[in-house]
Amino acid sequence: MAQGTLYIVSAPSGAGKSSLIQALLKTQPLYDTQVSISHTTRGIRPGEKHGEHYYFVEKEEFKQMIAEDAFLEHAEVFGNYYGTSRHAIEQILATGVDVFLDIDWQGAQQIREKMPQARSIFILPPSKDELDRRLRGRGQDSEEVITKRMEQAVAEMSHYAEYDYLIVNDDFDTALSDLKIIIRAERLRMGRQKARHDALISKLLAD
Ligand code: GDP
Ligand code: ADP
Ligand code: 5GP
Repeated sequence: MAQGTLYIVSAPSGAGKSSLIQALLKTQPLYDTQVSISHTTRGIRPGEKHGEHYYFVEKEEFKQMIAEDAFLEHAEVFGNYYGTSRHAIEQILATGVDVFLDIDWQGAQQIREKMPQARSIFILPPSKDELDRRLRGRGQDSEEVITKRMEQAVAEMSHYAEYDYLIVNDDFDTALSDLKIIIRAERLRMGRQKARHDALISKLLAD
């Protein structure tokens, strides 16, 4: 069986990457596509669930996991630690399932180094004003956190050209459709198709 594809998705906070990934997952069966659940030391937001949105851990536990080399990548973002567990990702990819990582540009650089076959997608908002509106509209962060995230937005966006694909999330359905098309095209690549249609190809080429 061909390995699943690892997708890295980055964007400034509020651009809509979590919404796009969640909407995408609703259209795909679990045996095709999954999202990696990161570990974080950030506080839990109203409505978030441990083990669903993140594994929420204390700083000490996070540091222990770094020491045990448990992370494929980890980074400090907005003053908190975030990391992707190595074990979970490798196990899922081995079963042929595509995995999405919602991670920042620092994590993206680390993954590209270790897994050059990963595909990366950057999501931009249609304007700074709209980014600000979305962060506020989400209604989950304090004024202080929103200000910090807006300040960091330009730094995050300055890395856009390191990615394979660029999507502007203006109209949500158009952006979602763009995301689906990228995945569909990646699944049609020769390596994946050869493995998937092995039996058919053997029959077609038999004398
Ligand atoms: P939101 O996605 O902006 O709503 O906020 P989050 O708190 O979910 O994420 C904060 C930042 O951490 C974002 O830039 C994410 O891309 C990044 N992030 C989330 N998970 C990971 C991870 O596992 N590794 C790395 N390196 N960054 C992550
Ligand atoms: P991120 O994960 O990048 O921080 P979210 O997915 O949490 O961003 O989106 C931030 C807010 O913007 C959410 O309230 C979401 O519903 C909204 N949003 C996302 N995409 C769009 C869009 N194309 N048009 C309008 N609002 C959007
Ligand atoms: P939030 O705190 O709003 O959930 O996430 C803030 C940022 O952290 C987002 O840009 C998100 O992509 C990033 N992030 C979340 N999980 C990880 C992770 O495991 N690793 C890295 N590097 N960044 C992450």
